Amino acid sequence: MYDSTRDSTNASTRDDLTAEVKDLARRHGAALVGVAGVERFEPQPPQKDEAPRGHHPRDFLPEARAVISIAQPILNPVLEAPAALADQELEMIPEHIKYPYLEVLYNRVGHVVHDYMLEFAGQIIGQHLLHRGYEAMIFPTTGLHPRLDGLSEDRIWEGPPTDKTPQHAPFRYTYGPFSHRHAATRAGLGEFGYNNVVLTREYGPRQRFNSIITDAPLQPDPLIDAPICLRDRCLLCLKACIMECITLRDDPAVDDYRSVGAVDKDVIFIDTPARTDPTLCRRRREDRPDSPIRGDCIRICPVPRPPRRLSQRLQRIAAEFAG
Ligand code: SF4
Ligand code: SF4
Repeated sequence: MYDSTRDSTNASTRDDLTAEVKDLARRHGAALVGVAGVERFEPQPPQKDEAPRGHHPRDFLPEARAVISIAQPILNPVLEAPAALADQELEMIPEHIKYPYLEVLYNRVGHVVHDYMLEFAGQIIGQHLLHRGYEAMIFPTTGLHPRLDGLSEDRIWEGPPTDKTPQHAPFRYTYGPFSHRHAATRAGLGEFGYNNVVLTREYGPRQRFNSIITDAPLQPDPLIDAPICLRDRCLLCLKACIMECITLRDDPAVDDYRSVGAVDKDVIFIDTPARTDPTLCRRRREDRPDSPIRGDCIRICPVPRPPRRLSQRLQRIAAEFAG
């Protein structure tokens, strides 16, 4: 099924192929789709973050020319209802399993559904490109969780200790093979927010992403041209994290491989201005039994509109820091 037009691509073939791929992505469940040229994965000012070795598009496909970013929204009640229900006594669910029960509810319809559907869409797009004579690399939506003999689940999550993080390492054994968030900003879908999550104009931080790397000559989309995160006028995500595991990268109190001298807040955040300690986030229920259902750092975000339903704790935080 090799397509002989592959090597004689002109502007109209490129535009047609790009339109085909985007249409296919939408028909298979992507709500947002954008394209980045592979050159955007070289370090970009001002942060000039580099893709770690083994995680650049060309590490997966040496002839890569473009990365397609796709996203599906987390539906607002899916995000909001489990957290709000945690404030209540549930008639059918015993109190001692209320939190795990609601965490599973959120995880199933706010995470697992997107994980599978975006991987499915990636495979469909990859097959289409293959039939057009191009190659495509697809990815899991989340990190990988290899079984490692002799290592506990906690140690697999946390990775080996390092000098700077003797308790838990930044590069865990579960690290994702490719950063879908960095692909999304480079494909013009949005920018990073202070919560270390990509915000789009359509859904704020409430979506999940996946990416497809291809050697097809697709037409890149423009980067966004105005900030989406409200930055220092807001800060709600940082206030909302009960574990205080999100810090800005220029915070002098935290020094690690992500630290920078200053975060330039006037530019689009194509690289993240923040860091999240994944181990603290994961341990929140062990360390703080009163921890809310995962996701308060996106639940409270007022972009693109203030959340309609918040837990009592988030309502208090939003009221205290409003305006
Ligand atoms: S999910 Fe919760 S604990 Fe984890 S970073 Fe977000 S607010 Fe903090
Ligand atoms: S809560 Fe505010 S500061 Fe945090 S990401 Fe959203 S807009 Fe930005």
